[in-house]
Amino acid sequence: MIQITMPLNFLGTVYREIRQALVDMGEMFDLLEQPSEISDREGAHDLQVSGGEVRLDNVSFGYDAARPILRGVDITVPAGQTVAIVGPSGSGKSTIGRLLFRFYDVGGGALTIDGQDVRDVTQESLHRAIGVVPQDTVLFNDTIRYNIAYGRDGATEAEIVEAAKAAQIHDFITGLPDGYDTAVGERGLKLSGGEKQRVGIARTLLKNPPILLLDEATSALDTETEHDIQEALAHAGEGRTVITIAHRLSTIADADRIVVLQEGQVVEEGTHADLLARDGRYAQLWQMQEREEAA
Ligand code: ADP
Ligand code: MG
Repeated sequence: MIQITMPLNFLGTVYREIRQALVDMGEMFDLLEQPSEISDREGAHDLQVSGGEVRLDNVSFGYDAARPILRGVDITVPAGQTVAIVGPSGSGKSTIGRLLFRFYDVGGGALTIDGQDVRDVTQESLHRAIGVVPQDTVLFNDTIRYNIAYGRDGATEAEIVEAAKAAQIHDFITGLPDGYDTAVGERGLKLSGGEKQRVGIARTLLKNPPILLLDEATSALDTETEHDIQEALAHAGEGRTVITIAHRLSTIADADRIVVLQEGQVVEEGTHADLLARDGRYAQLWQMQEREEAA
């Protein structure tokens, strides 16, 4: 259904934009299992990003009316800062990402970027402003250069290499017999989960979005790979507003602010140190994960 409804939303725009939209849709697949049935409001203007402040103001939402998922959520992500959203599975974390992309409209309250309600801006400009590092990057049956360059049309070789370096994947690539010309994907070299993810990060860095959304981006990786990914993500987040949705608390301990979501409500927020000192829900989750990791 995604393939059918998305191009319709983009009718009348140029080919390049359609292609970019489809790339983003592919990357969003994990986060956004549902297709968008939302269209631009009449007279919608392009989103103007100044700093990239993201704000949820008393947001309520349910996929169906009978079952509320988010209940009066207030979250402010100041421009250029990193806010992590944590909480048990099913608490509504990924739903916030879906609302940010406006794959659904909020049921109550408002979601704004630099003061502009996402319902008032074109979806094309909204999607252009937000980069996603997906859990599972889709690789095309083409060279690794092509796979990175897909982040932006017309990227130069120097820009591709710079993105690969920042994503901690350049050294791996130059170590391959054919370097950036190595064929990857199903019919080429099979990359590991961590390598694919770093290609995805390089792609996103080329796109250069002011806002970055990471949804449990490091969930299924071994510790060594995770260290590389963390380094890559730290580079990716520089000078951007970052929203990280995480299960593993160790990866978000240095976020500017951590928001704890439970059954669709914000139950705690603060820095890692604040929240440990408070000895509440976050401290409980933290201790639970420490025990799991020790076991
Ligand atoms: P989290 O990311 O915190 O694990 P989600 O935001 O993905 O949680 O989901 C929150 C709740 O919404 C869950 O109970 C989930 O089953 C439900 N949900 C998610 N997507 C849909 C959907 N497309 N239709 C109906 N319910 C959904
Ligand atoms: Mg989720």
